[in-house]
Amino acid sequence: MNPNHSSAMTGPPAAQQPDWPDTAALRRAADDLAALPALVAAEDCDRLRERLAAVARGEALLLQGGDCAESLAEAGPDTTAAKYRTLNLMAAVVSEASGLPVIRLGRIAGQFAKPRSSPTELRGDVELPAYRGDMVNGPAFTAAARTPDPDRLRRVYHASLGTLNDLERLTAADGGEFWTSHEALILEYERALSRLTPAGRYALSGHLLWIGERTRRPDGAHVAFAARVRNPVAVKLGPSSTPDDALRLIDLLDPDREPGRLTFISRMGAGAVRDALPDLVAKVAASGAEVVWVCDPVHGNTVSSPTGHKTRRLDDVLDEIRGFLEVHRSLGTHPGGFHLELTGDHVTECVGGTYEIRFEDLPTRYETVCDPRLNLGQSLDVAFELAAMYTA
Ligand code: PEP
Ligand code: MN
Repeated sequence: MNPNHSSAMTGPPAAQQPDWPDTAALRRAADDLAALPALVAAEDCDRLRERLAAVARGEALLLQGGDCAESLAEAGPDTTAAKYRTLNLMAAVVSEASGLPVIRLGRIAGQFAKPRSSPTELRGDVELPAYRGDMVNGPAFTAAARTPDPDRLRRVYHASLGTLNDLERLTAADGGEFWTSHEALILEYERALSRLTPAGRYALSGHLLWIGERTRRPDGAHVAFAARVRNPVAVKLGPSSTPDDALRLIDLLDPDREPGRLTFISRMGAGAVRDALPDLVAKVAASGAEVVWVCDPVHGNTVSSPTGHKTRRLDDVLDEIRGFLEVHRSLGTHPGGFHLELTGDHVTECVGGTYEIRFEDLPTRYETVCDPRLNLGQSLDVAFELAAMYTA
């Protein structure tokens, strides 16, 4: 495995890329995608950037959510409608309580690739490539499923197109705007779906793309890709992020200081947010950059249950949200929004909630192919707790 290989001979290092066994087939898949219609319109990316500028000014909030990793097997109108309704309900509750418009942004229609802490997975004495999301390989622990397959880029494109059609139908029935986002991880997919327009280059696989905590190095290929496109972009910032990291990312990704262009998604963990976030926010504010600050209260709070499941406690999620709001209130900056892993289904992947899921309940309906998601009830619990924080 080669965690730092360059996709192009002379390009910057690209972390977290699969070892595609058949590079000719990869080239053909990327060429096919480049010849297909873009998934979203550049004008819509511009419109989302304008909406995010309102968040940066403190006049709106962002609610971003969906699966950790979408699944090709699960993708379809029912799961899309369930996720859409969940975000919609949460947005309505938060908007009512905060008195601010809430921008609805799905982790959807492209969220099919995952960074992994290890390139391989060992079970017993069998070692296979790690599952990297349905864009790359399959979750089953077999050599066939785990071999990266470039045809999956095409399958993800078509699944995302179907999801976008479903979202359009749902939005037309309910009114308002709904936007899509995913982690820009697999560079062949993102490059193949980027298009040069009269207004510049856009990544047209989704309206907003983000760069993960593991691929955000300023001299890396993911930041270089994001710097070249006009979309609104986001970067995850974990507890090891320094103010200098943030300022460097601002210079690279938002050199013109355009409000709405750059969002920082902090994912510190409930135990670290009150210590790690203030210096970042204060120094970014002092630099004059108008970024959007979003709280991801899930990725810093993943624990292992006694049943051996990867899970999260709703109480930790709420505590990180509370810490995020406290930090922004004490600095006089705008807490711009929230980023959650959730589903509209009644899964049992996170613990806690009004209809309490306990550790021993986790095996009942544990269906995620990656990180644990809040179920419908737990998502609404978060929305009502947020409402209480806004009206307190
Ligand atoms: C994710 O959003 O699923 C993820 C991997 O997050 P992070 O980059 O913050 O670890
Ligand atoms: Mn995740």
